[in-house]
Amino acid sequence: MLMVRLLWDPLPDTLPPAGRRRFPRPRDLAASPICGAAPMSEQEQFDRRMRRAAVQALVQEAYRAAVAEQDSEHRPPAAFAQAWQAHLAGLLDQGSPDLPGWGPITVTGPDPDLAWSLFELASRARQDAIEHAKAAPSRRVQRGQQVPNFEFSIVSDGSSLGDVTYGICRSCGTGLLYKIGFPDEWQFCGLGCLALSQLEARHPDLTWYTTGQSRHARGFYDRYRQGSTSPWTARQHPCPHFG
Ligand SMILES: [Zn+2]
Repeated sequence: MLMVRLLWDPLPDTLPPAGRRRFPRPRDLAASPICGAAPMSEQEQFDRRMRRAAVQALVQEAYRAAVAEQDSEHRPPAAFAQAWQAHLAGLLDQGSPDLPGWGPITVTGPDPDLAWSLFELASRARQDAIEHAKAAPSRRVQRGQQVPNFEFSIVSDGSSLGDVTYGICRSCGTGLLYKIGFPDEWQFCGLGCLALSQLEARHPDLTWYTTGQSRHARGFYDRYRQGSTSPWTARQHPCPHFG
């Protein structure tokens, strides 16, 4: 996924201009020679790579801080991007932020420009990933029960953002949602609603039940049920066939 590559892969020598293309192609991110520049010595190249990696670490740290707040803040994508931006601004304002694993990073010269370019690209890539998320086909999974069980992933840009696991009993007309799991960084993006609406679309006319869930998942179900015509219930055993 582009956002992951931007944040965690070694940065190429040049970044595509922010805002020029909505969907940067992978080859746009490939290293390209800097035309007209004097050749850099090996030491200069090493120093440049280290500076770019340090700036990337700042953007990562700001991202992690925004993700860590999702547990309490529940920010949708636009608000999340603002929080990420605010954390990055806070780190840059420190002048010499101290990052775990890095120690103090002195922000100088072109570093803020690179940080903001990287932030723009990565936050846009996150938004694109959310907008283009789709449900992958359901696949059978074995859980040692009479009923058929399935799972499917919500995928975007070649990566899985989360999974849904469920079983259905056609003879009783019931469905049981075992688990809906999205990591913190992909919560509050509408992906859970996408997953549950797919569940109902793929297996219409079932009465859906849920198993005991975490506090957040329960809250999510409660909100989702308000907009769903499917009669979700909190009972643990929809019919004897689930065992
Ligand atoms: Zn049954």
